[in-house]
Amino acid sequence: MNNLKNIPSIDEMLKNERIKQLIEVYQRDFMVDVVRSATEELRRELFLKEEKIKKEKLMQAILVKVEHMVSRLAGGSLKEVINGTGVVLHTNLGRAPLGKGAIDYMVRMASSYNNLEFELEKGERGERYGHVEEVLTRLTGAEAALVVNNNAAAVLLGLNTLAREREVIVSRGQLVEIGGAFRIPEVMKLSGARLVEVGTTNKTYISDFAAAINAETALLFAAHTSNYKILGFTQEVPLEELVKLGQEKELPVMQDLGSGIFYDKDDWGLREEPAVKRCVAAGVDIVTFSGDKLLGGPQAGIIVGKKALVEAMKKNQLTRALRVDKLTIAALEGTLLEYLLGSPKKNIPVIEMLALSREELREKAERLLELLEMRTEGLSGIRQLKLVELEDMVGGGAYPTYKIPGFGVEIEFSQPGLEKAAKILRLGSPALLTRRQEDKMLLSVRTLLPGDEIKVADLIAGVVQEKGDI
Ligand SMILES: *Cc1c(COP(=O)(O)O)cnc(C)c1O
Repeated sequence: MNNLKNIPSIDEMLKNERIKQLIEVYQRDFMVDVVRSATEELRRELFLKEEKIKKEKLMQAILVKVEHMVSRLAGGSLKEVINGTGVVLHTNLGRAPLGKGAIDYMVRMASSYNNLEFELEKGERGERYGHVEEVLTRLTGAEAALVVNNNAAAVLLGLNTLAREREVIVSRGQLVEIGGAFRIPEVMKLSGARLVEVGTTNKTYISDFAAAINAETALLFAAHTSNYKILGFTQEVPLEELVKLGQEKELPVMQDLGSGIFYDKDDWGLREEPAVKRCVAAGVDIVTFSGDKLLGGPQAGIIVGKKALVEAMKKNQLTRALRVDKLTIAALEGTLLEYLLGSPKKNIPVIEMLALSREELREKAERLLELLEMRTEGLSGIRQLKLVELEDMVGGGAYPTYKIPGFGVEIEFSQPGLEKAAKILRLGSPALLTRRQEDKMLLSVRTLLPGDEIKVADLIAGVVQEKGDI
């Protein structure tokens, strides 16, 4: 308690040489505020301390806090992370890294004015949603398209536009919750539509849908069960049957696909995921999917389908609240153009990572192992480095049960221990995220971006060079 009156005042702190230096770099008001919070933090910590601490020491403690707060804020909250987990679409790590074409286009549009809502030819106000519509309709075969903030927004907008205050029929097997608290029943409620559940968790038949249709029915809805699989004795209604029923009863069918795939090359071996084009061709009236899952673009919700329905969505007031900005449009169009005209396997990182062959992965892992051995030679903190085969994942709610064979390096630390090493790597710059298997660290090479290997080797070498007192 008696330390409290020894805490330096804000004025005293501001006269400190180090603080004066910081005030030359940063704004004075900001520094005063930081000094105040650091002082308050110290005051709270000292409240219960009995032993007496010298004023000089207290000042030092405040300075340490100030430096820490300033560097944390000035460095920005978002930090680069090297993804050594082998999970390609990691929602916690920002899902898809963008390709170069998309980034260049986005940067150009970010640093200049543009025709976001202006028709250059006519010299009059234009439409924000027109920019990606043609490329989307060409890619999917749909009549019309609209892009909103994310797929959750796309589903919400679709339900609100097509079924507000009316009934939507959904199979009980598809009332899913997707990571980040997207729950079909909750979104349904928010949209103002009334959910009518049919069938059971493991089996739903087209006759269940047919029996539930009445004058209040507005929509037949199907959701892709992205992040789980019901195995065993199961039955879901084939899309074609749902479409046929919709056409007979003059009811639209909407499918929430989750992931949008435009690149379904056979040799991927990942064919059960329904591609967008296939859904459109099957006659589904509205298909929604994410821009930053298997599509490999920015966060966005993409809606494609019948023109009259998409037009109704464009006119919905909700669209104004869910609209995308110019940066998203640029990044998305840049990515989509790669599918339409370019070379997705080379220029869309997510596709590139998933399309890596076994041989390419092995070579990548061998290179990493070699770099690691070179950088850590003579350092005693590493007990063993080993090339290993491991299992990667698509992630982002796609292919929940599908493990992709991968390659990586297994690291066994002697000093520091695994926990501490992993923490040092997480707090590094850039941060490095890895996997663990028992008492060993696993580094998958599939999700390393060009240039990451050297950084990884430096970071790992840094860990065993630390004296271990972090
Ligand atoms: C991922 C997913 C969503 C949510 O998409 P966001 O773009 O993250 O909003 C909705 N439905 C399904 C089936 C999904 O897989």
